Amino acid sequence: MYHAKAYSAASATSPLGSTTITRRDPTDHDVQIEILFCGICHSDLHAVRNEWSNIMATTYPIVPGHEIVGRVTKTGPAVTRFKSGDLAAVGCMVDSDGTCPECRAGLEQFCPNMTLTFNSSDKHLGGVTYGGYSDSIVVDQKFVLRVPSNLKLAGAAPLLCAGITTYSPMRHWGVKKGKNVGVVGLGGLGHMAVKFAHALGAHVVVFTTSPSKKENALRLGADEVVVSRDANEMQKRAGSFDFILDAVSAEHDINAYIQLLRRDGNLTLVGAPAKPLAVGAFGLLFGRRSLSGSLIGGVAETQEMLDFCGAQNITADVEVIPVQKVNEAYERLLKSDVKYRFSIDMASLKSE
Ligand code: NAP
Ligand code: ZN
Repeated sequence: MYHAKAYSAASATSPLGSTTITRRDPTDHDVQIEILFCGICHSDLHAVRNEWSNIMATTYPIVPGHEIVGRVTKTGPAVTRFKSGDLAAVGCMVDSDGTCPECRAGLEQFCPNMTLTFNSSDKHLGGVTYGGYSDSIVVDQKFVLRVPSNLKLAGAAPLLCAGITTYSPMRHWGVKKGKNVGVVGLGGLGHMAVKFAHALGAHVVVFTTSPSKKENALRLGADEVVVSRDANEMQKRAGSFDFILDAVSAEHDINAYIQLLRRDGNLTLVGAPAKPLAVGAFGLLFGRRSLSGSLIGGVAETQEMLDFCGAQNITADVEVIPVQKVNEAYERLLKSDVKYRFSIDMASLKSE
């Protein structure tokens, strides 16, 4: 075991602050990574404030962060895929049982024994896993990804959650040229969804509550932008979408978007508001529309997404901050005031 620097919160109402945590020494199959950048996902905020207490209560202290890129500093003797000095990345998961049907299908995110990067039982050290707001992490090589060398690292970090969470459902639901695709909520996930839908050749319409994001949405690859509070603009688009991805972090009316689907159209929720959303039956009955959800993506698909980003030169638009600004960043996230992801420069942790 060794000590690592980290930022943690002691309770749902405490700010994050500097701390020291224990990490395991790399076992045979482990890779130790010096963390260079870690993105700030809205899930970090939900978890730090225990907003998902009914589904997965937070254990304190919590060290959040699951959009991790860095450099390999040490490898266990059985590690074949990485060596010291390689770029490496870690997303939302660090382990799974490897034997269940989900794991065998390459869908480790649905494994009943999956270990999340933070706030999951730590089978090595006891207690819970600690995430990427830290100077290093130790992860089984099966859950370590390769980062294409052409990608800027600060913007590559958010691909590990915001990227895969939006890429995976678009692949699943066949987003491609000729499809009319809506993206609801232009935050960290939403802006990646726009980039991917555009790169896959779809016609992309952004729905936002923030009129000020209009120009940026077009620059990111949207063909049209609708301010969702404008009922007239919403009505004009009724029955016209093949697929809508909803990446909103707070309570909102999803029926307004179900109405916009064509026959057999699908709305996939990736946003995870704490409170249940009300769904009217008739919006789904008429037009045989469907409503579904999606959770991050499997390891192989995450690597596929990273390679796609390498080939297309896609990264997140980031605002790089020192770790000392993380509490301020959370407040801004709650006001939808980020273009479009905060990425923590972990070198800032050295001064703590
Ligand atoms: P984010 O950057 O804060 O973006 C959320 C966006 O939602 C905002 O930018 C805003 O977009 C919109 N929004 C916020 N409050 C709203 C309200 N009251 N009514 C309508 N729209 C509102 O968050 P994120 O990091 O992209 O995460 C989004 C959600 O996805 C979170 O709940 C997160 O936990 C969840 N998530 C799920 C997965 C998964 O695997 N399914 C993975 C990662 C994250 P506009 O300003 O454009 O309206
Ligand atoms: Zn996330």
